[in-house]
Amino acid sequence: MLHAYNEPLSVEDVALAPPGTGEVSVRLHASGVCHSDWNTASGATPSPLPAVLGHEGAGVVEEVGEGVTSIAAGDHVVLSWLPSCGRCFFCRSGRVNLCSVAMPAMLDGALPGGAIRLSRRGAPVHHYSFLSTFAERAVVPEASCVPIRRDAPLAVAALVGCAVMTGIGAAINRARVTPGSTAVVFGAGGVGLSVVQGCRLAGALHIVAVDPLPFKRELALELGATHAIEDGAGETLGLVRELTDGRGADYAFVAAGVPALVRRAFDALRLGGTLVCIGLPAEGTEVVLPGPELVRQEKIVTGTLYGSCRPHTDMPLVLDLFMEGRLELDRLVTRTYGLEEINEALADMTAGSVARGVIDLAPPGVDLSTRRPRAQVTA
Ligand SMILES: [Zn+2]
Ligand SMILES: [Zn+2]
Repeated sequence: MLHAYNEPLSVEDVALAPPGTGEVSVRLHASGVCHSDWNTASGATPSPLPAVLGHEGAGVVEEVGEGVTSIAAGDHVVLSWLPSCGRCFFCRSGRVNLCSVAMPAMLDGALPGGAIRLSRRGAPVHHYSFLSTFAERAVVPEASCVPIRRDAPLAVAALVGCAVMTGIGAAINRARVTPGSTAVVFGAGGVGLSVVQGCRLAGALHIVAVDPLPFKRELALELGATHAIEDGAGETLGLVRELTDGRGADYAFVAAGVPALVRRAFDALRLGGTLVCIGLPAEGTEVVLPGPELVRQEKIVTGTLYGSCRPHTDMPLVLDLFMEGRLELDRLVTRTYGLEEINEALADMTAGSVARGVIDLAPPGVDLSTRRPRAQVTA
């Protein structure tokens, strides 16, 4: 639970009401720790408090509320923090991640429709991103439950609920990276490393990962980056030009909420190249780009929310690619923690010492594996 900004989270027993109409109770097995959780814990992205944080989870459905038809007890699910309404302009036009109902409701710290199922000593405790996955159990909207294959490891499935989908979706859905292209990725944490893997999957020829931390650069090279640099004095620009006959990169991604990186990424692009901003900067910050170049160079500057994904089709697809060995998502999990180590997990993330930390929430006796079951070799 987070009681106040910039205070450690506390592990407490809270009451969880049964799922109401259109709601589902999930026994969580794993939750990733994401920078967005930290943004709220530090007050950079405010959310109603007290709250149970966490929004990158996977688990097994325990109970469904009235009217729930798409999911049943026993189903394995990835939890989506953007339960789309299916009826607004954006949902009907296929851009469900921009649902005009979901986002405002999320910021109220309740479930869609305003219900709050968490409480402590009779006082309400807010939900976070509709999910609150730093817990053993959660009551979530039916639309947040994305059913997945039962042989997929739930620690990996949890990451698909935010970092992986965001990064791969940025490359595939938003930038639409093409074979033979050159991409530069600023930030090689869980999201940036997923962008790298998305670019590799799409057939990019050169993938340049930029990160100040040596272990992340090494991991980037192992996961598909062709180059990894620190960019202390802006070396990215020279390298990208060298790789592209002086033109610049076809795609640039900023996987950190740092406005100054957006300018560096903009400069690394070729004329008409595409810049995709992924990491969420603090409320009130602005991004500055050069006015004349914005016009003359025809560069496309866009953001992406949740990898512009359609959770119910894209998340199972990403897990299929992992299970077939086409994506190395298990490599993103640097360390697992117990729930009582949540503050250590947050500290490791802000220090940059993990690609992704995962909270092990599996029931007693259940092993939380990140590994893909070994492929069956048939004669
Ligand atoms: Zn996240
Ligand atoms: Zn909608």
